[in-house]
Amino acid sequence: MPELPEVETVRRGLEPIIGHQVVGCRVRRRDVIRDLGSSSTNNRRGKLNDQSLLIGCTITELRRHGKQLAIIACPDQTDQADRSQTTIDKEDLRIAIVIHLGMSGQLLRSNSNAKTTPAKHVHVVWTLDDEQRISFQDPRRFGKVVLHPSLTSLENDWSKLGDDGVTISARALETACRRTSRTIKAALLDQKLIAGVGNIYADESLFDAGINPNAISKELTNDQFKALAYSIRKILKAAIKARGSTLRDYRDANNQSGSAQLLHKVYGRAGEPCLVCSSTICSAQLVQRTTCWCPQCQPDRTR
Ligand SMILES: [Zn+2]
Repeated sequence: MPELPEVETVRRGLEPIIGHQVVGCRVRRRDVIRDLGSSSTNNRRGKLNDQSLLIGCTITELRRHGKQLAIIACPDQTDQADRSQTTIDKEDLRIAIVIHLGMSGQLLRSNSNAKTTPAKHVHVVWTLDDEQRISFQDPRRFGKVVLHPSLTSLENDWSKLGDDGVTISARALETACRRTSRTIKAALLDQKLIAGVGNIYADESLFDAGINPNAISKELTNDQFKALAYSIRKILKAAIKARGSTLRDYRDANNQSGSAQLLHKVYGRAGEPCLVCSSTICSAQLVQRTTCWCPQCQPDRTR
């Protein structure tokens, strides 16, 4: 399941689309799209207008927060020529689409000249003015494409998320985690507290910081929050450098696998010896997710 490093790797791989105009968009499955600009009560249905799908817009920016990726675009310049005398702030015209990769989603960039048969699970395809193509495919359909009618709509949505994991400060982490009585593992998975950390990097960060995943979040010490914030930033940055973890489905925007799975010290290693102390890595279901930790390096001080 793609977490922050995987989504950041996809974002970087898509950079060649910046500055290009979207000339077409083919929607093969309407129900993967949520149209927030729609007046209908069900934003998964109904006709989509060209501009909300970015047709005729020039891509200006690729922004990421946590596990979400936004493609930000501005309507065609020629439309604005007529309005130039009214000096409308260009920022106000920007719109965005947000991609949630879910469990198995992929956003792939290719050249539309390439003779490839479209994969079975390709749900939306955008074509750019230079023949580049962006395809959203998602076999398990836990992912989605959200159309935001304005940048404000995007920013409002993202303001509900916690700070981004890659830059999280000890103070922000502590403030967020002290709001909950749940375990620290559950707190790290809650995107409203900290954005971008999922099961893999939560386990790896807790191991790196020497904190037991069952510890009660708000009972951690000041020093533990400092250590944990540092570990989260370090683990996420190392994973970005390794271009994300490929366990099953994940591929970057150029259909390449990542190698961050080779850095995992506890995730997926239950029953194997700890790389630090040789104790057996244990695992249990926590927050309905398999959680792995070292009983020696991550002692449970509450017992
Ligand atoms: Zn250990």
